[in-house]
Amino acid sequence: MTDNRLKELRGQIDEVNMQLLDLLNKRAQIASDIGVVQAQLGTSFYDPQREADMLTALEQANNGPFSNETIKALFKEVFKASMALEEREARAKIIVQRKHADEKTIIKFENGVEIGNDHFTVISGPCAVESLDQMEATAAVMAERGVRILRGMGFKPRTSPYDFQGLGEEGLKIARQVANKHGMLITSEIMDASQIPMFADYVDILWVGARNMQNSFLLKAVGKARQPVILKRHFAATLQEFVFAAEYIASAGNNNVMLMERGIRTFEPWTRNTLDISAVPLLKMETHLPVIIDVSHSGGRRDLVIPLAKIARASGADGLMFETHPNPPVAMSDAKQQLSLPEFHQLMDAIEA
Ligand code: PEP
Ligand code: MN
Repeated sequence: MTDNRLKELRGQIDEVNMQLLDLLNKRAQIASDIGVVQAQLGTSFYDPQREADMLTALEQANNGPFSNETIKALFKEVFKASMALEEREARAKIIVQRKHADEKTIIKFENGVEIGNDHFTVISGPCAVESLDQMEATAAVMAERGVRILRGMGFKPRTSPYDFQGLGEEGLKIARQVANKHGMLITSEIMDASQIPMFADYVDILWVGARNMQNSFLLKAVGKARQPVILKRHFAATLQEFVFAAEYIASAGNNNVMLMERGIRTFEPWTRNTLDISAVPLLKMETHLPVIIDVSHSGGRRDLVIPLAKIARASGADGLMFETHPNPPVAMSDAKQQLSLPEFHQLMDAIEA
């Protein structure tokens, strides 16, 4: 007798479960439709007042046996699940977000250079352009080793306003002259949207430095430029913030964006920054953009550049960036981390091995 009763009650529970399942999914569908309307209106998914009102209405209608606290906790979980669904749908609309496993952005240049294909890209050159001789000495050695992308930094974002700020446009002119001689591309850090027309005369790849990663006006401006963009991660930016910064550029019309991991600030004083190596697979999983590792500014030490370069080579990154100077001890910026020309060869040997 009790056996049958148990069976019957369990049958009822099974039925209610199915009804709840149906209702939960119906609710999720309606929440998703609300998300579409909100997107059209440009309002946010999350409306705390609306959530509070729904909870109050549920409390007032509740006749037990569940307590109001339990009902609120259960419904909050339901609300949270709907939000997660909408966030997932919103993320799928992000241009730089990876949509399928084999999607990848390959950046192609007129001279045949490609970034993001299976070839490992090397970008190098001095921290800053200091003179024609300095650039020529560096570029000649780099070209001999097949490096096709030269750092040609005319504008330096220095911590102190009394430190060397770069040669400005004169530096870009020198870089262009040397790059043309050796069939190389120039990449150079842009500080402000007003520099875009001037950079168009000299620079093949615009470079947004760590400090400007969250300068959304600059990001939108380089998003309208014709050159591909290297975007560096800010030293205190999460990967989510980094990806959204890239989205600013892509959503303004420029899909040729490369992400550069350059280390983040941690409590560790033995390095200038801590290279976040997990950023490489994570950025590759989350986006379809090429990922490049800066092994100079991350460690901030000459003796770490080659070990970190080997790690970068093995990490699945699309390329590597490091600083090379013909006479590092007298460099006008980052003297402690730039490689000499013999060290440049050592690094190339190490990553080609
Ligand atoms: C650089 O790479 O030239 C540079 C200034 O680095 P960051 O913007 O990462 O500090
Ligand atoms: Mn530097």
